[in-house]
Amino acid sequence: MKLQLGVALPNALERAVILDRDGTLIDFVRDSELGVVTPAFHPAHVRFLPNVLHGLELLAKAGYALMIATNQPGAAKGELSEESIVTTNQALLDRLAEHSIPVLGIASCLHHPEGGDGGRADLIGPCTCRKPKPGLLLELAKLAQVEPASCWMVGDTLTDVRAAHAAGMQSALLSLEERCEICPHRGPIPSERLASAEPRLKEPRLLDLATAIVRLDAQHHG
Ligand SMILES: [Mg+2]
Ligand SMILES: [Zn+2]
Repeated sequence: MKLQLGVALPNALERAVILDRDGTLIDFVRDSELGVVTPAFHPAHVRFLPNVLHGLELLAKAGYALMIATNQPGAAKGELSEESIVTTNQALLDRLAEHSIPVLGIASCLHHPEGGDGGRADLIGPCTCRKPKPGLLLELAKLAQVEPASCWMVGDTLTDVRAAHAAGMQSALLSLEERCEICPHRGPIPSERLASAEPRLKEPRLLDLATAIVRLDAQHHG
């Protein structure tokens, strides 16, 4: 696991929201001529998805510690360098700081179980951090000094939902209604698969998820 620190919080918070990076906070990079979709791998690729900044602002104002957990197997697969992953993450932290959104840190799993041609041998193999395993999430909860049960994991795939449950956290799924034409894995999740993962919340926009998280916690904690 690679941890990159963002902004330290002035005082301890009781609750936290951990967010997935690709497809949740920032968009993928699409080359429609080649029909290729890749996660952002350069600072210039950091493009926030619609209303993400508003959603994060709402959560920060409501007193949540914000953190990011991301699987980045590109170096293990031989597709990217670790440096390109780290500089892209740093650009994301910088952009969030420019918008005065306090994010404690980004935890990245750089591993991949099978790797790929030219992949870095030290990153190939099983690990305890790659989502749906809970390692990244538990490490971040520790960083924020928040109990896992008081944390939410927000992501756009069932892998994020399963990681949340494995870590003993609440899950919120960003369920995109529109299918991207060149990314077959994007778009609505089949209902039977969705039912098997049982996300606590499901909304098509991050701002709606943020609002629902704040409302739900307010009901429970008075
Ligand atoms: Mg994602
Ligand atoms: Zn890992």
